[in-house]
Amino acid sequence: MKITINIEKCTGCGLCVKACPFNAIKVENEIAIVDLDLCNYCGACVEECPVEAIAVERDAPAEGVKDLSLYQDLWVFAEQRSGKLAHVSFELLHEGRKLVSSLGQKLCAVYIGPPGSNTEELLRRGADKVYAVVDDSLLHFQDDIFTDILVHLIRRYKPAILLAGATYIGRSFIPRTAARLRTGLTADCTGLEIDPETKLLRQTRPTFGGNLMATILCEKHRPQMSTVRPRIFDEAPATSAVDKNRITEISLSEIKINNRLNLLEMIPGTEEIDLTDADIIVSGGRGLGKPEGFALIKELADALGGVVGSSRAAVDAGWISYAHQVGQTGKTVKPKVYIACGISGAIQHLAGMNTSDVIVAINKDSAAPIFRSANYSLVGDLYEIIPALLRAVKSQ
Ligand SMILES: Cc1cc2nc3c(=O)[nH]c(=O)nc-3n(C[C@H](O)[C@H](O)[C@H](O)COP(=O)(O)OP(=O)(O)OC[C@H]3O[C@@H](n4cnc5c(N)ncnc54)[C@H](O)[C@@H]3O)c2cc1C
Repeated sequence: MKITINIEKCTGCGLCVKACPFNAIKVENEIAIVDLDLCNYCGACVEECPVEAIAVERDAPAEGVKDLSLYQDLWVFAEQRSGKLAHVSFELLHEGRKLVSSLGQKLCAVYIGPPGSNTEELLRRGADKVYAVVDDSLLHFQDDIFTDILVHLIRRYKPAILLAGATYIGRSFIPRTAARLRTGLTADCTGLEIDPETKLLRQTRPTFGGNLMATILCEKHRPQMSTVRPRIFDEAPATSAVDKNRITEISLSEIKINNRLNLLEMIPGTEEIDLTDADIIVSGGRGLGKPEGFALIKELADALGGVVGSSRAAVDAGWISYAHQVGQTGKTVKPKVYIACGISGAIQHLAGMNTSDVIVAINKDSAAPIFRSANYSLVGDLYEIIPALLRAVKSQ
């Protein structure tokens, strides 16, 4: 991409400086100057310039794949952390099975990780085939290495669709992989289906702050790639039959790796909270009125054997850390019981918890939107209702 300023035309009026969202333009000696390290070629300055002195030339779009039929099967990236398969891998296998049934293609898992029984577990969870790059050095995720491996496997075996979890791992290296392959990626999907006529993957994700759902197609490029929020789909159940012949191992030494980073040490996070795996979550919102209110939320969570969640308003107020945030820009959760205390039920909060099995809402406003999603609605002051619940739980 290229940006040019025509110095014959530029009057140094500075309108482009104001229009630039990236502070990439300044005016010196009555001529606009662009800092190419900051410019992202969005073209806002081009539209604003009254004398048409600025031009942005964009690269021609990548040509599509000429023979789409060369690309077959649906792949699930089987994420592992420290050697343990992540739940989202099983969720994607479950959803992937439904998708391939209308395509008449295979459901495959791609595993990059240490040796062990993970590849067999993926077969047990429904994969027809597993492509595996197994090596002790792959115990921990590393961006460059995982990207090089996945790009190599996709170029070699040509899947039609690739799904990965929208976790910190998936969000990190799947966009790099898609960019290398010059294909499209829909990030953070909440729904997937196969278009009955075109057989394309319909990838649905929230947009405009969660107020609209966008359905995106990748028509000309392959693979069609999506990252999918964890806890949106159910997990594939385990079966007992395993045919090890369905595992294709590719040696790490066959793959050209261009690693720019050295992993020195893995230090586990200090926050001992795993919202996405919790069966019971008690969440507090702005209705707590003060940070100390979370002590009461924690007491109820502890009494029920659950963990503490929160709305973004409580996180923004500095009452609790971001690790607890549930919602569109926090975690997506699917516990057996979700108790929302002093949370209004904004669409961005609901986006992270409304597939919970049972939702209990405590709110003093009987018209609060959260009650429309709740299975049990407790109208009243949370500082009266929670102590009453605690007494009831402790008396049992
Ligand atoms: C792009 C974007 C992303 C966002 N992402 C998220 C996200 O990930 N997660 C998220 O939560 N929000 C998110 N938000 C913010 C969201 O829109 C809301 O602002 C937020 O969820 C409100 O939090 P809340 O329900 O705690 O506060 P409020 O909306 O202020 O609700 C407080 C509730 O507490 C009740 N209440 C007050 N006192 C009491 C009491 N004593 N007892 C009982 N009830 C009481 C009130 O009736 C009210 O319903 C996002 C917003 C945007 C624009």
